[in-house]
Amino acid sequence: MFQTHREASRLVDAILVAEADPTPQTLDAVRLNFDLVYSRMTLLAAGIFAETFRGSEQLQMDAKALRIEILDLADKIDGVVGNPEAFTQALPHLQRDARRVQDRSNDLVIATNERLGTARTEGRAQLLTDYGRLATVVAATTLLFAATIVLQFNQMKTILLTQRQLRELSARNSESAKLARAASDAKSLFLATMSHEIRTPLNGIIGAVDLLIGTDLKPEQAQRAQTIRRSGDILLDVINDILDYSNLDANGVTYQNAPVSLLDLADLLTDVFHQRLVAAKLGFDIDFPPVLVSTDDMRLRQVLLNLIGNAIKFTPKGVISLRARVLDGSGLRIEVQDSGVGIAEADQPRLFQNFSQVGASSARPFGGTGLGLAISKRIVTGMGGTIGVESAVGQGSTFWFELPVEILGDAPRTEGGKAGFAPPQASRYDTRILLAEDNAINREVAKALLESFGATVTTAPDGQAAVDALRWASFDLVIMDLQMPVMDGIVATQTLRQLGFGVPVVGLTANAFAQDRQRCLDAGMTEFVAKPVTREKIAAILAEFASPVDGDPEGDLLDMNQLRPILEDLGQQLYLDLLVNLEEDGQSLMRVVAESAGPQDTDKHDPALHALKGAAATLGLKRVGEKAQELRDAKVIGAEAFGALAKLLDISIAAARAAAS
Ligand code: ADP
Repeated sequence: MFQTHREASRLVDAILVAEADPTPQTLDAVRLNFDLVYSRMTLLAAGIFAETFRGSEQLQMDAKALRIEILDLADKIDGVVGNPEAFTQALPHLQRDARRVQDRSNDLVIATNERLGTARTEGRAQLLTDYGRLATVVAATTLLFAATIVLQFNQMKTILLTQRQLRELSARNSESAKLARAASDAKSLFLATMSHEIRTPLNGIIGAVDLLIGTDLKPEQAQRAQTIRRSGDILLDVINDILDYSNLDANGVTYQNAPVSLLDLADLLTDVFHQRLVAAKLGFDIDFPPVLVSTDDMRLRQVLLNLIGNAIKFTPKGVISLRARVLDGSGLRIEVQDSGVGIAEADQPRLFQNFSQVGASSARPFGGTGLGLAISKRIVTGMGGTIGVESAVGQGSTFWFELPVEILGDAPRTEGGKAGFAPPQASRYDTRILLAEDNAINREVAKALLESFGATVTTAPDGQAAVDALRWASFDLVIMDLQMPVMDGIVATQTLRQLGFGVPVVGLTANAFAQDRQRCLDAGMTEFVAKPVTREKIAAILAEFASPVDGDPEGDLLDMNQLRPILEDLGQQLYLDLLVNLEEDGQSLMRVVAESAGPQDTDKHDPALHALKGAAATLGLKRVGEKAQELRDAKVIGAEAFGALAKLLDISIAAARAAAS
C-alpha cells in the first residue's frame, strides 16, 4: 500500500513536470509512472494485501474505491496516450485525478498501518497467551519431570531397600545353610561316633560268642550261641549301613578305579552268597562276560552285595539271576533279577530314598534299615551312572544299574582273582603275636581267639606300650588297634617303622572306611582288618602272616574227606563231644604210659594206642591215627615219641574243632 502511495506521488510529480515542459519524454514518463501505479493496483486486488486484510471490511472497501479511481484514470490516459497534444491538454485533469489516487492511497496507508498496529497488538496478546500456555506446559512438564524424579527416587529407594533385604536374606540363608550343614555334619558325626561306640562292644560280643561256640556246649547252648552270633552279624550289618551312609553323607563318595575282571567278580559273588543261597534253597544263575573293566571294585561290589542280599531276602523260592552286559564299548549294565515278592508300582519311586521300606509298615519280617538302596543309589550316581527297578507284585523284581566304565579288553578267569585274604591253611600256628588294643574285653577276646590257634600272645593297652614291648622282645606279627589312648595305632606304627622294625603290622579298626585303610597303609601297616574280630578273620590273618606248626597244613593233620561226612552224620555237637572223648583217651594213654614200666611196656599201652588210632581215624584226625599206628608198629618207643603224639593230638583236636565250627 505504501509503494502504491509512493508510485501515485511520483505520478503526480511526473504530471507536474510534463505540464511545465510537455515533451514526448515527459509525457512518456507520465505514462510509465501510471503503468507502475496500475500494476500496484492489480497486486492490491490479489496479492498479500488482499489476503492479509480480508477480515477488514473497511479496508476492503477503501481498496476497492482506490481501484475504481485508478481504473478511471487508466481510461483517461489510454484515451490520450497516442495523441501528444490531447495528452498535454488533459494533463491538468489527470493531475487532479492522480492527486485523488494519491490521497486515497495515503488514507489506505494510514488505515493499513492502524490495522497492522492492531494486528500486532493482537499478535502480541496472542503471543503472550501462547507464552502463557507454553509456560503452563513447561511448568506442567517440569512438574511431571519432578514427579517422575520423585517417583524414580522412591523406586530407587525401594530397589535399594529390596536389595538390602535380599542381601540380608541371602546372608540369613547362607547362615541357615551353614547351620544346616553344621547340623548335618553333627548328625553324621553323631552317627559315625555312635556306630563306632556300638561296634566296639559288639566286637567283644561276636568274638566271645565265637570262642564260646568253639567250646564244649550242650546242643541247646550251642544253638543259643549261634543265635547270638547271627544276631550280632545282623546288628553289625545295620551299623555298617548307618556308618556307610553317614560317611557318604559327610564326605561324598570317593572312588578309586582299578582293573576288574567280571569273571573274577562273578566267582567272588558266587562264593560269598553260596551258603546263604543254599540255606534259602534258591537257585543262582550268573552270566557275566569275560571282560576287564576299569571301575571302583569295592563300590561295585558294595552295590551288588546289597542288591543280591535284598533279592535273597525278598525271594521265598525260585532263582536269583545276575546278568552283566557291556554297553556301546563304554558302559556296563548289571541286572539282578529275582522271582520274589515284587514291589507295587506305587512304592517304586520311594525305594531309593533314605530309610525307606515298602509294604512293610505293619509287619517287617525281613529287618534291615531301609538304607541299602539309598546307599547304592548314591554310589551309582556318584560314579556317574543310573540305577532303577522293574517290578510287579508277585512277579519278582529286576534291579539294574548302568555305570560308565572303561572297557580294558577281554579277561579270562585269573588264578587267585578272588578278593580278600587267602583261605585259612592251618588251624595251629607257632607264632608270637603282640596285640595292642585298649578295650579290655576286646583285648581278651582277640587274645583268646589267637591263642585258640596256638599263638603266643603278649598284649599292650596302648601304642606306646606296644612300641616298648617290641624293644624288649621279638614278635612275628603285631596286631594293632587304631584308636588307642596315649599313642594311637597310626603313630605307633610310624614310630616302629622309624625305629627300623620290619615286623608285619595288621591294623584293626571299628571304622571300616577306605580312607582308614589308606591311612593304615600310609603309616606303614602291612594290612588292615575291620572289626569285629571274628574267628574267620583271625584265621585269615594267621594264614597270611604266621607259619603253621611244623609247617603242617591242615590238610595233613585232618582228613577232610573223612571228617566232613562224619560231621554231617553226627551233627556238630556230637562230633565235638567225641573230640572231648578223644582228648580223654589221649590223657588216659599218657597215664598208662606213665604208670607202666615205661614206653617199652607195649602190652600195657598197645590197647590204648589201638583205641586212640581207631577213634582218631574215624573222626578224621588222620595224622594222629597214623602216628598211633607208627608207635604200635615200632619195636622200641622213646618217651619223647609219646610226648610228640600228645602234642599232635592236641593240635589236631584244635584243628578239628575249628573245622567243625
Ligand atoms: P533294607 O535294609 O530294608 O533292605 P533297602 O534300601 O535295601 O533297605 O531296601 C528298601 C526296601 O525296598 C526293602 O525294605 C523292601 O521293602 C524293598 N526291596 C528291596 N529290594 C527288594 C526286592 N528284591 N524285592 C522286593 N522288595 C525289595
